[in-house]
Amino acid sequence: MFTLIIAAAGSSARAGVNKIFAELNGRTVLERAVIPFLQFKEITEIIVTLPKGQIADGEKILKPLFKNVLITEGGNSRYLSVKNALSLVKTPYVIVHDGARPFVTKKIIEDNLSIALKFGSAVTAIPSVDTVAFGEETEEKIIGKTGVKNIQTPETFLTEELKQAYALSSEEFTDESGLYLKYIKPPHFSSGDIKNKKITYKEDLTPDYLTGCGFDCHKLAEGRKFILGGIEIDHPKGLLGHSDADVLCHALSDAILSALGLPDIGRRFPDDDPKFLNANSILLLNDAFCEVKKRNYSITNVSAVVMAEKPKLNPYADRIKEKLSAVLDTPKEYIGLTFTTLEGLGFIGREEGVAASATVILN
Ligand code: MG
Repeated sequence: MFTLIIAAAGSSARAGVNKIFAELNGRTVLERAVIPFLQFKEITEIIVTLPKGQIADGEKILKPLFKNVLITEGGNSRYLSVKNALSLVKTPYVIVHDGARPFVTKKIIEDNLSIALKFGSAVTAIPSVDTVAFGEETEEKIIGKTGVKNIQTPETFLTEELKQAYALSSEEFTDESGLYLKYIKPPHFSSGDIKNKKITYKEDLTPDYLTGCGFDCHKLAEGRKFILGGIEIDHPKGLLGHSDADVLCHALSDAILSALGLPDIGRRFPDDDPKFLNANSILLLNDAFCEVKKRNYSITNVSAVVMAEKPKLNPYADRIKEKLSAVLDTPKEYIGLTFTTLEGLGFIGREEGVAASATVILN
């Protein structure tokens, strides 16, 4: 009943990489754009338009997923690619979807197909949250915001009507809805989703959020300073280590490095390197944070637990948060810090050591 056309013959000029074959969590963008449609048994054929040199790669990826898939060579524009593909469609309805929209969901498709079956056309759209204006260098026309929509895909039409629109048109359109509007009638809208975005820039291929966890533990010893979160704690014993043995900074640094998939601080700052003898661990944390900034991420929040039998650490919480907030460039409210004893149990309970665990979210 439905043929799905995937428009994937674009040049990826703005992304600077081939976005269609780029990987998103272990699968290519192209696979992710197709897979949500496979659960609809009404879709009996898929036609994918790709640049000539990528047809074999497309077949290798898509043939194992769906038997009835045809890969065709795209034209010089999306308009011409879809026009060519459309000439091959024999089913009563045709769905057109961008190959660079990998976040399409079952719900979006369901809504789109049911509106198309009811009215003969369905264009996925979302209300614009921004005021839309027109003009190259200066604002020449204000389109506004009320009633303004951003068009996404899928777009579904009666095949004969869309073929008729293409036959009548001598100009190129950026999508099928504009063409249908001009030559047939106003198409109906179906509900899109802000997450159903089109991969346009390289940054669109990196995950929105990363999470990491870290853990550390140091012995308590006489004659050492007790440094926690960069603050000196008043206590007869301190933490023993090659650096200043700040367990909280170490757990936090490891959480950050782990979120970025980088080696932990033990490998980054070896404890047999004299350079790091009595090192200020705030500097190690700052080094981990530089890796965050380098990748254009920032810290959404951190949450850490310090496990110590003694001393009472709560009175230091505010100062520690202030210090970490400055290093991590994150408001104090987003730095969660809890302290716990171990009720006298184990090495922490016997006051032989202190441990800390930390979780971080980057965005
Ligand atoms: Mg450590």
